[in-house]
Amino acid sequence: MVFVLICANHFNSILNIISYKRRIFLSRGKRPKWMIKIAIERMNILFERAEMEFITHPERSNRYVELALKLSTKYNTKIPEKWQRRYCKKCKKFLYPGHNCTVRLINSEVNIFCGECGHVMKIPYHKEKKLKRRAKYESIKKRNDE
Ligand SMILES: [Zn+2]
Repeated sequence: MVFVLICANHFNSILNIISYKRRIFLSRGKRPKWMIKIAIERMNILFERAEMEFITHPERSNRYVELALKLSTKYNTKIPEKWQRRYCKKCKKFLYPGHNCTVRLINSEVNIFCGECGHVMKIPYHKEKKLKRRAKYESIKKRNDE
């Protein structure tokens, strides 16, 4: 009986050491590059799945978005740029233009209206407009010079 108790104690201490090491390994701060790479890959897969299953199982796609957001906080990485406008920043639900969200251009801003909670995400595009204007101006100048 005593032997079993000692054994159990020993086992517990080993477990404690392992969990302590794990805690150090996964503490706050920047992750190694290979981890971040895998996390980004996984986020991409989750969002692709979410898009695929939105029409048949919308609750599943919301869950996938939740998992991807958790990954991004855990590994200190941004959501891939391709998917940044595909979930609501307020209610964290997957947005599918034409089904539960509308996209409009108002006052040099992309307005993404979430049909689930009514939140409006506004993304300005002044920079793109400026670049376009400059390109046009330069092409006219070039033509005049010739
Ligand atoms: Zn929303």
